[in-house]
Amino acid sequence: MSDKKHVAADALRRILGVPLSDVNEMFAKVEANRAKLDTCRRHDFKKSQPGDPNVTMQLGWRCSHCGGELDAHTVRWYATGLDHGKL
Ligand SMILES: [Zn+2]
Repeated sequence: MSDKKHVAADALRRILGVPLSDVNEMFAKVEANRAKLDTCRRHDFKKSQPGDPNVTMQLGWRCSHCGGELDAHTVRWYATGLDHGKL
């Protein structure tokens, strides 16, 4: 773990009042999600369904191709970028 990541993990542990293992688990989920999103050729975001066992980040939107998850705000700007790319 890099020094910056270690400092961030320790700060989150103190702020959230959770064990460092929980923070490290959150970091692993974030990194796995980013890896999915980075390898996708074109996302197709759908609103996440409650109880979907494939949802790990609870961000509200999930790509049907890569499984990466984003929040509504980011999905909106992704869609806007696609629209503007057609101009
Ligand atoms: Zn995708």
